[in-house]
Amino acid sequence: MSVRPRLSVVGAGMAGSDAALAAARAGVAVDLFEMRPVKTTPAHRGAGFAELVCSNSFGGEARNNAKGLLQAEMLAAGGLVMSAAAATRVPAGGAVAVDRDSFSQLVTETLRKHPLVSVHNTEVTELPDGVSVIASGPLTSDALAESLRRRVGEPFLGFYDAAAPVIDGESIDLDVAYRKGRYGQQADYLNLPFTREQYESFIEALSVARKHVPHDWERMEFFSGCMPIEELARRGHDTPRFGPLKPVGLEHPESGERFHAVAQLRQEDSAGRMWSLVGFQTGLKWGDQKEVVRLIPGLENAEIVRYGVMHRNTYLCAPKLLEPSLALREHPELYVAGVLAGTEGYLESSATGWLAGTNAARRLLGLPSVVPPETSMLGGLVRYLATAEAAGFQPMNANWGLVPVAAKQRGGPGKRERRERAYQDGLDAFVSWLGEIAVERTPPFALAGRASDQAV
Ligand SMILES: Cc1cc2nc3c(=O)[nH]c(=O)nc-3n(C[C@H](O)[C@H](O)[C@H](O)COP(=O)(O)OP(=O)(O)OC[C@H]3O[C@@H](n4cnc5c(N)ncnc54)[C@H](O)[C@@H]3O)c2cc1C
Repeated sequence: MSVRPRLSVVGAGMAGSDAALAAARAGVAVDLFEMRPVKTTPAHRGAGFAELVCSNSFGGEARNNAKGLLQAEMLAAGGLVMSAAAATRVPAGGAVAVDRDSFSQLVTETLRKHPLVSVHNTEVTELPDGVSVIASGPLTSDALAESLRRRVGEPFLGFYDAAAPVIDGESIDLDVAYRKGRYGQQADYLNLPFTREQYESFIEALSVARKHVPHDWERMEFFSGCMPIEELARRGHDTPRFGPLKPVGLEHPESGERFHAVAQLRQEDSAGRMWSLVGFQTGLKWGDQKEVVRLIPGLENAEIVRYGVMHRNTYLCAPKLLEPSLALREHPELYVAGVLAGTEGYLESSATGWLAGTNAARRLLGLPSVVPPETSMLGGLVRYLATAEAAGFQPMNANWGLVPVAAKQRGGPGKRERRERAYQDGLDAFVSWLGEIAVERTPPFALAGRASDQAV
């Protein structure tokens, strides 16, 4: 009787969860190591797998949106995180946002009940022996980070990332807040309008509020897509008004009134009991954070159910170390995925996890590693990780710079049309590649919505 090959996956976050299921579906036995709840990270709260540490959004799903293409690719691949996102969606205009508890529960249950996945709730302090996927994320525990640093012989890189506060829905003043989507999109958001005077007082309070100052603050970079609100205010009095507090397209639906600035709340759970402040990542001390949040019109009595926090993200200098298959060049039995591999974002982490799990399983089964086509978003992303300029390397999101999009031509199709074309070409190429590598791609459970994409 032949012995089934075994894979170790470290971390049951966005990347590790997808890696574990992809490998198990390929027929490999998986030891999935997750240290929570025995030991936790500064940003996680619970014990569930794939816990969303901040926003509950996976980004826009439109066919001219780069994240939309990566979402469609992961749905076509039957990826665990994206399938769970589709099954636990809450309204969020054109974005895919989820009920975070149901989402995490679905991912956890799917893995726990899979006959080929054994879960070990323990901290991994040394790199495992044998073929492994390391997906321990931006908050990798110190002991494991040190073990990985010794093996790759390179220091880690880092930047700061912050999470936004979540508000108890009952504490929002609905006489002030109004429902509307920007530019008349689906009215899924609650909008909180500022007069000029209210904005001035808010910015003044923000500029004097006390911040949590990490010890290596001065040397750290912020990730531009997740800049703390206090850092935006520091860069310019009006900067928040041109960013997360932008009022354009948010005139009052009944009176037509225009506002000086508008903050938006996005629904967090399917019951609408929790709402997060969009683009309001913050590292303010909790007492000061509460005071500043309560200066937002409609939030004068806000109860914060989860405070914003700021944390260092740790990642490897991927271009020096990684193959596009996500194996370490010098240690091909070790695969790295998620933020640790130099991606940024839940969706990107899960997609690289799926690829690392697929390739790790193929290695164990004696098959060559695979890389998605370069026209696909995942193909573009992993090629970028392996070949980017190493000096000043920063984590990468899904974006149209990663894949070929037809050049602009006088009298030719506009940006939207060219991107929609790239979306279709990328998805077609990805789906036909899935057929060639013969992975199991049915969704791991019944899905709600996105029927058109699942059918491709
Ligand atoms: C504060 C903060 C806010 C963020 N906000 C957003 C956001 O709003 N939107 C977004 O798209 N992205 C956000 N990110 C970035 C990133 O997309 C997420 O962190 C994402 O969860 C990364 O996926 P991952 O699989 O790499 O890591 P994670 O999802 O963090 O998973 C890693 C897992 O490994 C476990 N682990 C760590 N060390 C060990 C060990 N030694 N042994 C066993 N288990 C271990 C952890 O407990 C965790 O469960 C944020 C990051 C941070 C730090």
